[in-house]
Amino acid sequence: MTMIADNLHRVQARISAACLACGRAPDGVGLLAVSKTFDAGAVRQAYAAGQTAFGENYIQEAVDKIAALSDLPLQWHCIGPIQSNKTRLVATHFDWVHSVDRLKIAQRLSEQRPPDLAALQLCIQVNIDGGATKAGVAPEAVLELARQMQDLPGLRLRGLMTIPEPTADFAAALAVHRRARALLDALNAQGLQLDTLSMGMTGDLEAAVHAGSTMVRVGTAVFGGRTYATGQ
Ligand SMILES: *Cc1c(COP(=O)(O)O)cnc(C)c1O
Repeated sequence: MTMIADNLHRVQARISAACLACGRAPDGVGLLAVSKTFDAGAVRQAYAAGQTAFGENYIQEAVDKIAALSDLPLQWHCIGPIQSNKTRLVATHFDWVHSVDRLKIAQRLSEQRPPDLAALQLCIQVNIDGGATKAGVAPEAVLELARQMQDLPGLRLRGLMTIPEPTADFAAALAVHRRARALLDALNAQGLQLDTLSMGMTGDLEAAVHAGSTMVRVGTAVFGGRTYATGQ
């Protein structure tokens, strides 16, 4: 077994154990393997071990990788910041976008989604722990943005994504993730039909699962430490 296959099995075991510990069905939590900075060969190894959903942060790096792997039936998720001049690439090459943080980006994705492709699945990135300089929509602004986005053609709003700061312990991580869960519940109580909470990474996936995450985004525990930063 390759190291990546071994790592994937460990992460799946962590997810299953976390689900068991809080009484959730293990198939209610999807694993997004975050392959940023890793090459197409690493993604192939993960695919050979059964992984099909991959997350990328840097658009140009992702587009090159997606092209190199077009022989495989993979699902690609954009989880990084999106500038307006990159929306066409995102709309053309990805299946999901987790990092929508303003209406203008959603409108451009809607206009630029090729009509022959399935709807682009979207999450709104929420600044759940209130970091002043952080990306993401303020929690109190999410309802209005969700309502504005929900009828844009070519898109389907699925839920929320968060990237909280690392916390000291499980209880602190759980408290933050529970705020995201409560926000999702509040939006659904307002009539939205959202089924996705994209939260939990290598360091905090157990707390995220306890709070109701439906998709954990795991890079380091699958592919190893990232040794270089890439720009676009
Ligand atoms: C890099 C990244 C991840 C994965 O983080 P790890 O700690 O390596 O698991 C998840 N989500 C986002 C948005 C990221 O940028």
